[in-house]
Amino acid sequence: MASAAGAMRLGVFGGTFDPLHTGHLMAAQDVIEALSLDRVLFVPALRSPHKAHEPTASAALRLQMVRSAIEGDARFELSDLEIGRGGPSYTVETLRAIAAQRPGPRLVLILGADQWAEFGQWHEPREIASIAELALITRNGDCPSELDSGFTDGPPPPSTVIPVTRIDLSATLVRSRVRDGLSVRYLVPEPVRRIIEANNLYLIGD
Ligand code: ATP
Repeated sequence: MASAAGAMRLGVFGGTFDPLHTGHLMAAQDVIEALSLDRVLFVPALRSPHKAHEPTASAALRLQMVRSAIEGDARFELSDLEIGRGGPSYTVETLRAIAAQRPGPRLVLILGADQWAEFGQWHEPREIASIAELALITRNGDCPSELDSGFTDGPPPPSTVIPVTRIDLSATLVRSRVRDGLSVRYLVPEPVRRIIEANNLYLIGD
């Protein structure tokens, strides 16, 4: 349930979403419920500074896939801020821009355990933690707060660990199933599956 009193709480969920899948939606829903968020903003990255390879689907199609998946769910919203800005997508700049656009809501940055492991090496991680609360989602029973977050200048900033419904699903798995000619029905929302099919996405390479 959303917060009854006090400032609105807005989750910020970044990723490449190449494509967005059911695991992302379930995790976002779990964080909303665990932290009484009012809404989660999905922010597809143009290019993640933390990933070795470029996204496979175009930015426009990744936006379209997220938009089609969350349509009709008032708890979810799409932001094209990182894609519109160009260049590598630095979270600190994204949070500053969101805070400037929407003064008021308390920002809660949703981070995966994989992201937490490298968080200390991100651009201005302590500034990030001063702008937003940190919510760490665990997908396989790990406790990311016990993982090394890569800070060399003292302890990591405080964070809340949110165990999310365990679903062993990643965008990598979705892309590889498409490439292998296997169905991705139920792994991605149906509108996302249709966009993948209509645009012949993920048929080759990773
Ligand atoms: P890829 O397989 O291409 O690396 P991904 O599925 O991990 O992609 P991203 O778009 O990079 O997806 O994900 C954004 C965030 O969502 C990451 O922090 C990731 O940990 C988290 N996430 C991805 N899949 C799940 C899942 N099944 N359950 C919970 N969180 C997930």
